[in-house]
Amino acid sequence: MEKQAKQVIVIGSGVAGLAVAIRLALQGKQVKVYEKNAYPGGKLTQIKLGAYTFDAGPSLFTLPHLVLELYQAAGLDATAYFEYEEIEEAFYYHFSDNSSFYTHKDETRFREQLSKLFAPREVDQFFQHLQRAKLRYEATAPLFLESSLHELSTYLSKNVLPAITKLPKLGLLGSMHGENKSIFTDQRLQQYFDRFATYNGSNPYEAPALLNLIPHLEHGYGTFFPKKGMHQITQALFALAQKCGVEFYFNSSVERILISSGKAIGIRFADGTEQLSDLVVCNADIRFAYKNLIPEIPAPKAFERLASSSSAMIFYWGVKGIFPSLRLHNVFFSENYQAEFDAIFNGKGYSDDPTIYINIGSKCVAADAPAEGENWFIMVNVAADKGQDWDSIRAALRASILEKMSRILQRDISSLIEEEDYLDPRRIETRTASIGGGLYGHASNERMAAFWRQANKSSRVKNLYFCGGSVHPGGGIPLCLNSAKITSELIAKYEN
Ligand SMILES: Cc1cc2nc3c(=O)[nH]c(=O)nc-3n(C[C@H](O)[C@H](O)[C@H](O)COP(=O)(O)OP(=O)(O)OC[C@H]3O[C@@H](n4cnc5c(N)ncnc54)[C@H](O)[C@@H]3O)c2cc1C
Repeated sequence: MEKQAKQVIVIGSGVAGLAVAIRLALQGKQVKVYEKNAYPGGKLTQIKLGAYTFDAGPSLFTLPHLVLELYQAAGLDATAYFEYEEIEEAFYYHFSDNSSFYTHKDETRFREQLSKLFAPREVDQFFQHLQRAKLRYEATAPLFLESSLHELSTYLSKNVLPAITKLPKLGLLGSMHGENKSIFTDQRLQQYFDRFATYNGSNPYEAPALLNLIPHLEHGYGTFFPKKGMHQITQALFALAQKCGVEFYFNSSVERILISSGKAIGIRFADGTEQLSDLVVCNADIRFAYKNLIPEIPAPKAFERLASSSSAMIFYWGVKGIFPSLRLHNVFFSENYQAEFDAIFNGKGYSDDPTIYINIGSKCVAADAPAEGENWFIMVNVAADKGQDWDSIRAALRASILEKMSRILQRDISSLIEEEDYLDPRRIETRTASIGGGLYGHASNERMAAFWRQANKSSRVKNLYFCGGSVHPGGGIPLCLNSAKITSELIAKYEN
């Protein structure tokens, strides 16, 4: 008799939910995705304001091969479906002393840029630090970012030896900032490398020096941008999932995961209706899931030791003006970085002098702004929501951003804004069910964070799996795609 295809329910259509749905459908499973919003993508979505289109969340795209892999798995030529380009001069960095540089994908040209500002020894150290990042990434990624940390087979694999032999060089002792400070005398370069902690919502003054591997993603593999903007990743994966036979149900908020005799057996909606399945994969924020979807299962004790990742205050400004000095990604550093992170992680939740990140998608996708305009996505890091007065904070941050940007760019930015909207921790939480509006689930401030994060397979409920930015191996698009891959591999191993 023919074996019946297993029925899988995926809760949430974030980038990891879409990717896991594709992979499971390709395993021959019948996959249904239930999404509370009217649209797919979760944080990876877009908004339109008048003649301007904005990527609403992620703006930095690295490791595009992880998207291409999904097409390869489906036996399709990715180039016919998903176009992207490598960015030559991806970042503009501006420091509080008004000095600035551009990054360049070509090392010689990048070295020229750095040499205008920094002593030769510092520039040499810059590239040596990138080599260190490469070594660390290559030694640890197969183990920590591409495998489950909760399977014995991982520790018996060939990936363990390279990590062990390089242990002394991995940066397991000390903090990111401690290491950067010991390498660079120029505070601007300390600040440059410290900033990579924000790529997973962490604090460089606490996060382990191992995280100094993050720059390798940008500098080693390159910085990319989809031809139609970041939202194209969602559109492409959504279309691929449908092509693979995945069924989507929008405006479908899941109220509970049904558990019977220690097994996940389906889901229940707010109106009381139920949908049964053989397996449940939860792509919702893990803290939300323990609190609301499986309240009968206590969250792991380790969660108490993990800080929430930072959140963000975002302004979407349709700016009537062209700024040739700016690039796709622009960073305007604060004067005192330590005070900024202290305020975010240990203080009032935001800094009066925040580092300002401006992403201008229309530098690459001209159609996203009118001919004489630019679509500014302005983001400053803030704490996850703990009941702060976000309306007042928003007003204060808006004023401080306008003052700083008008001063640096020598134009009255306020008078150029013709469209405007915002996102704050509360809105991020409401729109994506991420607790406190944390961008990346838990922060990686703790040395043991990788081991304390939620595993992709529940150890307490059979047939229940997790994927997404708040579970192993962590947040950000590349890790979410890895998370989906690890989860689908575990399902192939245990549930066929
Ligand atoms: C402002 C911002 C900037 C960022 N910048 C970058 C960047 O530059 N580069 C980068 O790589 N990453 C960035 N990130 C992080 C990145 O967006 C996330 O790590 C990633 O998109 C998370 O994907 P996910 O699969 O975990 O799901 P999410 O995007 O969190 O989506 C989860 C989905 O589950 C749905 N859901 C939740 N609960 C239920 C329920 N009960 N029933 C039904 N559906 C439910 C939600 O509605 C949502 O659609 C940024 C994030 C934000 C918010």
